[in-house]
Amino acid sequence: ETPRKPRGRLFFANPGPTNIPDSVLLATAHHTVDFADPAFGEVYWACIEGLKRVLKTQQEIFLYTGSGHAAWEACLANLLSPGDTILVLESGHFSQSWGRMATDLGVEVQTVAADWRRGVDIAAVKAALAADTGHAIKAVGVVHNETSTGMMIPIPEVRAALDAAGHPALLLADTISSLCSLDFRMDEWGVDAAVGGSQKGLMLPTGLSFTGVSHKALKAHESSKLPKHYFNWSAMMKRPLKSFLGTVPTSFFFGLQESLRLMEQEEGLENVFARHTRLATAVRAAVQHWSGNNGPQLFCTTPSRYSDSVTAVLMPEGVDGDVFRRVAMQRFNLSLGGGLGPLAGKVFRIGHLGDLNEPMILGTLATVELAMKVAGVPHTPGGVDAAIATLA
Ligand code: PLP
Repeated sequence: ETPRKPRGRLFFANPGPTNIPDSVLLATAHHTVDFADPAFGEVYWACIEGLKRVLKTQQEIFLYTGSGHAAWEACLANLLSPGDTILVLESGHFSQSWGRMATDLGVEVQTVAADWRRGVDIAAVKAALAADTGHAIKAVGVVHNETSTGMMIPIPEVRAALDAAGHPALLLADTISSLCSLDFRMDEWGVDAAVGGSQKGLMLPTGLSFTGVSHKALKAHESSKLPKHYFNWSAMMKRPLKSFLGTVPTSFFFGLQESLRLMEQEEGLENVFARHTRLATAVRAAVQHWSGNNGPQLFCTTPSRYSDSVTAVLMPEGVDGDVFRRVAMQRFNLSLGGGLGPLAGKVFRIGHLGDLNEPMILGTLATVELAMKVAGVPHTPGGVDAAIATLA
């Protein structure tokens, strides 16, 4: 194996963690402060308001020192009791993992099964809810943007399915790879708990996660019986910052204040979404072009569900995606996401979320094409031209 190129930037095209803007990195490198200091409180509460604005909620928010898994667990532990049923809408590796966590916590998991290339059929969700006349299902769990397959699941359609069935289950949405990249509207869409993390659209290091929580969910929390301590919302509400049972990771909030400023004031959230759509469209044009001559294809086969934050690329039969990724990394310093779970070696993933612009995307696509040539992956050359045509 060739050693990694020591010069030039590491080109980081993973779908999370993502690139961190220099100004956010600098803001994060703040000297230590006492989290009880009122001066820190000002930064903290401004960040809480900012997180509520990007989640589009006026309800509650709780934060955790931990990656997205922590917020997943907080969400389940605070809302459910042993033996409750959660209906998990299958989308890929992350819906499956969240379901596995629920099982481990003592929750019954009912899955609306789906082909990972198409995602869940909303009619099947409606049918599962309509069949649950006794309302055994206490929560519906959906991953808004399935990072393993590059697919966006339309939350308003899931909300409509619950409403059509007159079903009272809580709606839990994972926004880990959608928040601040794709439009997400917690209150308007009737989401009861929205799970988010720092290391994707928010352009921060990994390690801060949070849940937006509706008033309906808070009520359900009062009777939830799953064991919890660090994640207990009732205990958090008694703390001065209404979150965090332990030491508050203050550095994150200096970084978060800056990333919110970049997104809301410098660029505008709507423009952030438009940029993600523009760059994603370019990536998909390149992949669709490469797919000729038995080349790699878009893994997601439902255009209305294409993800604007990550594209999973299905390798041709018999071509190992991980071998190809190693060539990209070791020869060209380009880091790409690998396939997860059953997709290991079968797909590679291009992250196009966070701090990213056209030259970065074109650099990634040109290097993917170069690495395919070097690694002998069949494809139709010219994907970069196809991407340029969408961007010009
Ligand atoms: N959910 C989604 C959609 C994700 O993409 C990820 C991580 O990539 C997770 C959950 C798990 O989050 P974490 O790795 O931060 O624990």
